[in-house]
Amino acid sequence: MKKTPLAILQHIFGFEQFRGDQKAIIEQICCGGDALVLMPTGGGKSLCYQIPALIRDGVGVVISPLIALMQDQVAGLQQLGVKAACLHSAMLPNNQQQVETALRQDQLDLLYVAPERLLSNRCMKTLQASRLALLAIDEAHCVSQWGHDFRPEYLQLECLQQAFPGIPRIALTATADQPSQTEIIKRLQLQKAKHFISGFDRPNIRYRIMQKKNGRQQLLHFIRQYHLGNAGIIYCNSRKRVDELARWLCQQGLKALPYHAGLSGQLRSDNQAIFLNEESIVMVATIAFGMGIDKPNVRFVAHLDLPRSIESYYQETGRAGRDGLAADAWMLYGLQDVMLQRNRLMASTVDDQIKRIEQTKLDAMLGLCEITSCRRQALLRYFDDSASEHCNNCDNCLEPVTTFDGTEVARKALSCVYRSGQRYGVAHLIDILLGKPTAKVCSVGHQHLSTFAIGQELDQQQWRSVFRQLLAQGLLSTNDEGYGGLKLKPVCRALLRGEVKLQLRLDRWAEVKKSQLHDSIPATDQGLWQALRAQRIRLAREQKVPPYVIFNDATLMEMVHHKPDNLLKLSSLNGVGDKKLTRYGSQFLVIIIAHSKKSENIVNKRKTR
Ligand code: ADP
Ligand code: ZN
Repeated sequence: MKKTPLAILQHIFGFEQFRGDQKAIIEQICCGGDALVLMPTGGGKSLCYQIPALIRDGVGVVISPLIALMQDQVAGLQQLGVKAACLHSAMLPNNQQQVETALRQDQLDLLYVAPERLLSNRCMKTLQASRLALLAIDEAHCVSQWGHDFRPEYLQLECLQQAFPGIPRIALTATADQPSQTEIIKRLQLQKAKHFISGFDRPNIRYRIMQKKNGRQQLLHFIRQYHLGNAGIIYCNSRKRVDELARWLCQQGLKALPYHAGLSGQLRSDNQAIFLNEESIVMVATIAFGMGIDKPNVRFVAHLDLPRSIESYYQETGRAGRDGLAADAWMLYGLQDVMLQRNRLMASTVDDQIKRIEQTKLDAMLGLCEITSCRRQALLRYFDDSASEHCNNCDNCLEPVTTFDGTEVARKALSCVYRSGQRYGVAHLIDILLGKPTAKVCSVGHQHLSTFAIGQELDQQQWRSVFRQLLAQGLLSTNDEGYGGLKLKPVCRALLRGEVKLQLRLDRWAEVKKSQLHDSIPATDQGLWQALRAQRIRLAREQKVPPYVIFNDATLMEMVHHKPDNLLKLSSLNGVGDKKLTRYGSQFLVIIIAHSKKSENIVNKRKTR
């Protein structure tokens, strides 16, 4: 009997039903058609080619740019009883030969290959001599020169159609704007492909952007309060900051590791392996880290420095919650960040056109930081996606921002910039506004300016907030000398003349609402949750695979919520397929039953008392 897609989904993968476009995509490929799939991270792209590969004759070839990612996928599939293997340059020749033999003998369901390996003569020959079920091109945006992640070796994938005529091809990506999509279609010759475009939204991610006060302490507080024992990624803009922060977090008792391009290759891959294989590691990284990180249960992504664009911010925060469970995207930013980024652009020697594009991108990012309405709506609109007005899962929706009429204070700040000659930095300007006769102020005679001491209604912190917002809104800019001096932008005239009003936001330094995940496991079940996690890590260590390929967090969470007391009930949970039920079912069941008995006893004791 031929297996249906649904039967495979339920028995092999252990999921009840298809999500979104999965069913339609699978049908398209099973019928021999091509597909272009745009689906957000965590949307479930892998099943779209894995299931057709199991249904169609021959091996499904998956082209994927990163070795770590491949190895994970293969380990996960093997756990499900699927015959999967990979070919890449870091393998021993012996193992490569084994895979090639298996391939020739039609013994594989799925083969993951890096593009440069695929295009080697040897590999092409072997594949042309084998029966192929399909070709899947993962991270297809890497073919686009417009995109943020262009990989030259992807360009050569143009030859696939000619080399393997009649084999269905499916290109998948989570990030491709319109020009990139057009380029993917052209380069990969997908003119006849059916398009499956889902939105960009990541509803399980909670966005929060707060003002920076004492960044490290704020971060520590956030982790201790909501994410103790969870995996997370913290992004900083420089290697030095990464090293220092990782060290400091360790001193505070957290398990933190650094990751950046300045570390040796060995140390980087060690740290990456620890991050993947342990449960509660916090990775402190520069943006170089992450593209290859497919760890599904990253529970938070924190930014301690301002990203350069919304694209970067969205991609980096997108690494949280790939498993679909609640996750936090948490960011701090302040005046210093705005100044640094503005100065960086000012000092950059790239050509004017590129500079203008970067400027626009930075402005959009700053806009997102200062916005008082829904962050998700702003993000989705940036990608031309639609969204409702309130998502109820971002800081601005959960706790509306207080704004105040900042017209008067803004005018004071602007005229202070003007009167002092448009060349001084914020610290000096605030001293003047507050009426502090510091040595520097007096040495240039600024105690005699008409703006001296006119701003005593605010304190230093509040003035910094005003200057930050004026810079972010483009009423002020840094001047060309590169020392952080500020100058007026022509648009501020209307404000100075009193023709327009300006609303400013009241700053916020800490999250007001609890993290969502925090609520999802009741205190009485924390013991069970920890026991299940401990069992998972034991099994993972034995087999040298990442814990989540045994069962992911979503599945463990279902165990906690449903507390199945027999194998049949356990098998109905998401993520428990036939193979895993046989291999691990009883081991987890015992823990759940023991735990339920324990809590029953406690309840009974309370009753008899
Ligand atoms: P993507 O590649 O799009 O980021 P994945 O293919 O890694 O996403 O899937 C994300 C998560 O969703 C995985 O943990 C996967 O097991 C789960 N998943 C995928 N499809 C389904 C489904 N139909 N039902 C339940 N869970 C699913
Ligand atoms: Zn919102």
